[in-house]
Amino acid sequence: MVSLITDTQILKNSLVIDPQKLPEKAAQVAQDNAKYFKKVKARKPKQLDTVMSKLHVETFKKIDCLSCANCCKTTGPLFLPSDIKRISKRLNIKSSDFEDKYLRVDEDNDRVLKQLPCSFLGADNHCLIYEDRPKACREFPHTDRKKFHQISDITKKNVAVCPAVFEMVERLKTEFPL
Ligand code: SF4
Ligand code: SF4
Repeated sequence: MVSLITDTQILKNSLVIDPQKLPEKAAQVAQDNAKYFKKVKARKPKQLDTVMSKLHVETFKKIDCLSCANCCKTTGPLFLPSDIKRISKRLNIKSSDFEDKYLRVDEDNDRVLKQLPCSFLGADNHCLIYEDRPKACREFPHTDRKKFHQISDITKKNVAVCPAVFEMVERLKTEFPL
C-alpha cells in the first residue's frame, strides 16, 4: 500500500515477479520461510534490522509499485480512529457515514475495507487519498521497521501479496543465513 504511493523515483515495468503469480510462488517457498522465520523469532539476530533496511532500499529502487498495486487490490489496510477522522474530513463526510459506506469490522475487531480492490484506488493505480491514506498504507510492507523479528508472521503472509517482500525474503535467506 504504502509504497504504491511513495515519492521515490520508480522504474516502470520492473516488477521482479508478476503479482498474479505470487500466491503460487509463495506456496513453493512457504516451508522454507516458515523454518527461517522460526529461527528469526527464536534468535532475534542483532544485525537483522540493518540487513533488512538495505534490502528494503535496494528492492524498492527497482520495483514499480504503480505497475503493481497488489496490496491495494487484494488486502487493504486496517483503519485506526485517527485514519477515519482524517479521511472523513478530506471527503467532507461524517466519520459514521464513512464507516457505514466503506468499512466493516473483521474477526479481530479491526475496521477494514468492505470491498477490494480498495475504493480509493484510482486509475493508473494512484491512491485517490494519498496524502491522507491510512497509517497502515504508509507503513506497508513494514520491511524497513525496527525490530523486524517481531513481524515474522505478517511478513510470511505478505510474501504472497507483495513482490517486494517476496524478493527481500528470498535474498534475506541467502544473504543472512541462520
Ligand atoms: S487507501 Fe486504498 S488505494 Fe490508498 S494506499 Fe491504501 S489501500 Fe491503496
Ligand atoms: S504489493 Fe508491494 S510492490 Fe506491490 S504496490 Fe504494494 S508495496 Fe508496492
